Amino acid sequence: TAWWRHVEAAPKDPILGVTEAFLADPTPHKVNVGVGAYRDDNGKPVVLECVREAERRVAGNLNMEYLPMGGSVHMVEETLKLAYGVNSDLIKDKRIAAVQALSGTGACRLFADFQKRFSPDSQIYIPVPTWSNHHNIWRDAHVPQKTFHYYHPESRGLDFASMMDDIKNAPSGSFFLLHACAHNPTGVDPTEEQWREISHQFKVKGHYALFDMAYQGFASGDPEKDAKSIRIFLEDGHLIGCAQSYAKNMGLYGQRVGCLSRVTSSRVVLDQLLNVLSMVCEDEKQAVIVKSQLQQLARPMYSNPPVHGALIVSTILGDPDLKNLWLKEVKGMADRIIGMRTALRENLEKLGSPLPWEHITKQIGMFCYSGMTPEQVDRLTKEYHIYMTRNGRISMAGVTTGNVGYLAKAIHEVTK
Ligand code: PLP
Repeated sequence: TAWWRHVEAAPKDPILGVTEAFLADPTPHKVNVGVGAYRDDNGKPVVLECVREAERRVAGNLNMEYLPMGGSVHMVEETLKLAYGVNSDLIKDKRIAAVQALSGTGACRLFADFQKRFSPDSQIYIPVPTWSNHHNIWRDAHVPQKTFHYYHPESRGLDFASMMDDIKNAPSGSFFLLHACAHNPTGVDPTEEQWREISHQFKVKGHYALFDMAYQGFASGDPEKDAKSIRIFLEDGHLIGCAQSYAKNMGLYGQRVGCLSRVTSSRVVLDQLLNVLSMVCEDEKQAVIVKSQLQQLARPMYSNPPVHGALIVSTILGDPDLKNLWLKEVKGMADRIIGMRTALRENLEKLGSPLPWEHITKQIGMFCYSGMTPEQVDRLTKEYHIYMTRNGRISMAGVTTGNVGYLAKAIHEVTK
């Protein structure tokens, strides 16, 4: 009985702890703008129609056999097309090593473990701020972390000059974690021109870019547009890594479908990837090698990834009609969020708030980095039963026609 007495309770996760507190609050008019999961205009979770249809098609036809260690080959193939482009030469030349991963988190973790194993003295540069789990992932993979400037609190936009300085000042050949689009938590992305400059500077310094792409389609409503940052890096010949997730853009949160891919200087075998982690390699031979090592990392961790979500994804993306339906539905989600940004800003302005709120509509993706202080957030929760992380991040997906007026009024009151 004394075995685990020395173990102390872990600190609450800053994001998941918000949901716990929300659920425990009996107030009927409570609002949850904490967690980054899409909700419809009634505040209800959404299962996309394309997903329902894919489920109908696969129902009864699925056996329960193991997937290969690298996951579903078909799913991975389709996933790479989304990130790298349907006509990507890298895909044709089999220069991408990719495996299905346990959603975006699993893809990042696989990358971090790969980095530690094969570049044991390296560090990872992480933007300030970032999704809080990034810190946990690289910490548990024992990769030292450095930070680079990203957000500019005064302008509530990008601190591009400081970011470029940090990129220039990092030792040549450093690893950087970049959010491909819809940066979490700030909703601030570089412009296309800025991405070109970043890519150029990465080239000059010989840095490595791992793109975490958890929101492809959520920023603009178009997955092709949202992949622009990656495509710019590919045009410049970078051997990038990419972590993809279907949690948000297909609403497959609990299915844990993702992919890690990595461009090699040669070809990588494409079989077996879901929630794909991919890495671009120098040639096909290197891609095969890298993939074998990714599988080697997966084997003792979870052996092979789950099959159901992978089959849903490959059924949708492999069928032109279902894929079109998905594209329509992603756009629908993105448009609802964009609409709520406008509504929140207009409500605040109508209330006569003297503070600047343009950033609500300028920022993009699921989150609005409001600029509220932890104390103001505490008041929102205590006095108004509005739940969000203390960094002032509002999940726009939790804002609805029904609660936007109440939310604006409460924000106005606590920021007076
Ligand atoms: N990366 C970022 C930036 C995220 O915001 C998230 C989810 O919130 C993820 C990765 C991973 O999500 P999942 O593991 O559910 O795919």
